[in-house]
Amino acid sequence: MTQPKDSLAVTDESLPESAFTRRAFLGAVAVTAGGAALAACSTSTGTPSASVASTDGASASASVSQSALAGDVRHMTPPKLDTAHLGEHVLCYRPLRKGKPNLSVETIGDTVIAHNYGHGGSGWTLAPGSAKYVIDLAEASPKGSTIAKDAPVVVVGGGVIGLFTAYELVQRGYSNITVKAASFDDLTSHNAGGLLAPVSMDNDAAFQLIVDKIGIDAYKFYAEIAHGTQKDFTKGARIVPAYFEDREHSGLEPYVGQVMQPAKDVVLDFGNGTTRNMVSYDDGIFMDTAVLMAELTEYLTAKMKFVKEKITDLTALDSPMVFDCTGLGASQLNHDADVVPVQGHLILLRDQVPADLQSMILVYFKEGTTSAGQHVKRSFYIFPKHLPRTGPNDVGVVGGTFIEGGTPETPNYEEFDTMIAAAKNFYGM
Ligand SMILES: Cc1cc2nc3c(=O)[nH]c(=O)nc-3n(C[C@H](O)[C@H](O)[C@H](O)COP(=O)(O)OP(=O)(O)OC[C@H]3O[C@@H](n4cnc5c(N)ncnc54)[C@H](O)[C@@H]3O)c2cc1C
Repeated sequence: MTQPKDSLAVTDESLPESAFTRRAFLGAVAVTAGGAALAACSTSTGTPSASVASTDGASASASVSQSALAGDVRHMTPPKLDTAHLGEHVLCYRPLRKGKPNLSVETIGDTVIAHNYGHGGSGWTLAPGSAKYVIDLAEASPKGSTIAKDAPVVVVGGGVIGLFTAYELVQRGYSNITVKAASFDDLTSHNAGGLLAPVSMDNDAAFQLIVDKIGIDAYKFYAEIAHGTQKDFTKGARIVPAYFEDREHSGLEPYVGQVMQPAKDVVLDFGNGTTRNMVSYDDGIFMDTAVLMAELTEYLTAKMKFVKEKITDLTALDSPMVFDCTGLGASQLNHDADVVPVQGHLILLRDQVPADLQSMILVYFKEGTTSAGQHVKRSFYIFPKHLPRTGPNDVGVVGGTFIEGGTPETPNYEEFDTMIAAAKNFYGM
């Protein structure tokens, strides 16, 4: 674990007002190196202490004029964001693959290798659908179509992509599965926020259509959990309103008419004189990531072996079919220079009123530069995340940054306080 050292105590006054940018984080990502050494997330249970000034600005400036209000007014009590209510500070790394994630199959010698990595900020959004897509490809390949259901199959990677791949293999009747991973604990997958929405990817247009289809499949899966009709999982996904600044920024419009209802124009009224014009997808899906990781792990460990092992050669696993779900590890394992880390900052909230936190908000701010000189796309999001080991009122996670090429060597700690200052500004605190 890395202990955050310095952080910002940015006042609202220190943040220049800036208009919401019209840029979703679906666009191109700068070319960066590294990522091979990134594995788990780093967490601090303390709260930051030192103070640094921000110059880039990250203040929400959605229209707040009363005359501009349009849509249903929804009253919302803001979360408690003073220092006493801020818990773990988490630094994490999204496995982004430039151009598109690698969802493909190749046969090397006698081994069918199915790649399923590089989902950026959308791994949870896509995981169940991505698993089906890649297993379909593997089973349709000439060699893959000959592999018996009781043949040894290895899934490399114990994050959400690996676990959902293993889960889908079980559903298809494979009976001799082993999951191998360098680590199973405190992964990006456990720490992720939990909004179902395709963000922070870098897909070409043709592949985006496939990603949308995969996301719609995944939505159906999580909706079953939320509605209590999924046969194996009862927790870990809920339907809650998802608020965005506009429809374009949600990434969810392709889902409307397929699995989701159209968004509504609403006004969030925080009861303190501040209101925000937003759009609401009332059938948004929140995935309680650590909770669902625990459910998945419990289900799978009863059915297969979990082996802690770093793999250096996918063809040396003594298995005719291998699923490569190694996230950022694929950079080194496959010498894939297109895989880059996108650093994210999260703060877990504690001692909240859970009923006040049963929705999700995501708004984007203008882009800037971190103290380490790295390009940062800033946003404010809040989701009702709950860690299994914490108390019932320890609900909520605030994010978040998107820093291409950010690594543990460039923690950009000041972003934690920039984030909280922006959140307070959003709520008019
Ligand atoms: C701050 C933050 C917020 C996020 N919020 C959301 C969100 O709200 N919604 C959403 O959809 N997504 C979100 N994401 C993205 C999501 O978390 C990731 O896309 C997803 O977790 C990636 O899963 P993964 O299984 O590919 O990677 P990981 O969880 O990193 O797992 C990779 C696995 O591969 C193993 N591995 C790697 N290399 C090797 C090797 N050589 N040998 C053996 N094992 C290996 C690792 O040990 C690990 O077990 C967020 C990410 C971050 C950082």
